[in-house]
This record gives sequence, structure tokens and C-alpha cells, in this order.
Amino acid sequence: MFATIIHIIVVLLQSLLGSVSALMLEASIIHVADTIPEISLVSYPHIPATIITPSLTKDLSQVLELRHGGTEKPVIALTFDDGLDPDISQEMLDILREKNVKCTFFLTGKWLVEEKELTRMIIADGHEMGNHSFNHPDFKKISGPRIRQEIQNQENTLVNEYRYLPKPYFRFPYGSKTEKILKIIHQMGYTSIAWNIDTLDWKSTKEYIVHEALTKAENGAIIIMHLGKENTAKALPEIIDGLRQRGFELVTISTLLEYDPSIPRPSSTKNS
Ligand SMILES: [Zn+2]
Repeated sequence: MFATIIHIIVVLLQSLLGSVSALMLEASIIHVADTIPEISLVSYPHIPATIITPSLTKDLSQVLELRHGGTEKPVIALTFDDGLDPDISQEMLDILREKNVKCTFFLTGKWLVEEKELTRMIIADGHEMGNHSFNHPDFKKISGPRIRQEIQNQENTLVNEYRYLPKPYFRFPYGSKTEKILKIIHQMGYTSIAWNIDTLDWKSTKEYIVHEALTKAENGAIIIMHLGKENTAKALPEIIDGLRQRGFELVTISTLLEYDPSIPRPSSTKNS
């Protein structure tokens, strides 16, 4: 009756911890010939009080990946990846501001370095940021240490340049991952935010993008699009208006999870 759609992959780390940590140890002594900028694999034990993070109130520490939120409430999260053409990105941010929509962005560290004004605007407008790696490589084609560098480097950029910590949201470049890679990012404090509606906006017409978003819309959906794509910008006003006309509220990933009863709050595990 109240069929619960299983949409999260919960891993009982206890059962796997042994093999995973052995794996990590092995990986850490491999010398990689990758030529990416050298970065320090630092964490932030003393994060200043002024740092901004996604306003998540739920506990994702046992969640490896999410494809959509709970299906009880008519809420949908628009998410935007990569960061492409700056002028079109600006246009899209203006549309979101005018229509008062808060979204979640997964931008590459490279774009964050190049587009400082736009990045500050995204944060100032109250949108959310996740991690999408620094150089956008296919994670299936690079080593474990390089995966960690890619993630840490994007995080360092956001923290050092913008005082923003993107944890715990991560989106895989090209959606490319394995179970083993999911565990690597989870060990770094991230949960993979996948999607259940792909508008294929990077290669589609405006009409197709609008059609995909509106006809597939459902409670708790996560829609993937890209920041700075021309047809996406053209489709955006119709998508926002169309979803609202159908009764959906457009929210960030954190708010989407707020409405998802299957994801616990940090204290509820102790109380139950
Ligand atoms: Zn991407």
C-alpha cells in the first residue's frame, strides 16, 4: 500500500570497513604519474564560524547515493552542473533570481577559479553548492589518489576563495562511478547526488528540454541540467513556470531531503 520506493543505497559500513580500509592503504602507496596541479590533501579541522555550507539538517552519513527525494510532497530540486558559458550562466542566474528559485549547483573547481563574480553571485543568491571535481575527469579512468585530489582540490577552491564548504553533496562527472569509487567519495564525507530526470539539455532543443522536465515531473524528483548552456537558458523560464503550474515547489537538495521521511535526522538514530 504505502509502497516505499527504495531510493537510497544504505551501506552498513561495519561489514565492509575491513576490506575498504585495506584497499585505501594499498591505494595510498601507489605513485601516480598524473600531471595535475599539486594540492594538499588537507581537511578543515578548524573551520571558521563564517563558513557557509548546505543547510542540511538530515544525516547522510550512511547514505552512499541519492537519486531522488521522498515522494510524499510535491517538491522538485533543479540541479545544475559544470559551469559553461559565463554570459549564459549570468542569464540563467538572473532568471532564477527573478523567479525566486533556489537550486543546487555542482560546478567544477576550474570554473570556480575562472568565474569568481558568478560564483559569488550563486552563493549570495542563496543557492547551494556541491562538489563536481576540479577538472571533470571520468572517475573510472583515474586512480584512487587522483580521485581524492580532484575532490579535495574543488573543495579547497570553494573553502579558500569563497568560504563555502560543499560537503556533503557530490555529483560524479558524467555520472561515471563504481561501487568502489562511491565508497572513496563517501570516506571523504560526500554522498553522491544523482538524478531521476535527465533533460539531456547539453544536446537537446529547448522544446525537448521543457518537455522532458514537465512530462516526467513527479514528487521528490531531482532534475539534472547544466549551467551556461544556451537551450537550457531558453527552457528555464518555461520549466519553472510549468512545474509551478503543476503544483510543484522548487527547492534545493537540502530542502528536498527535509521532506524525505526515510532519511534520519542526526539525533533520531539515538532516540529510536
Ligand atoms: Zn559535469
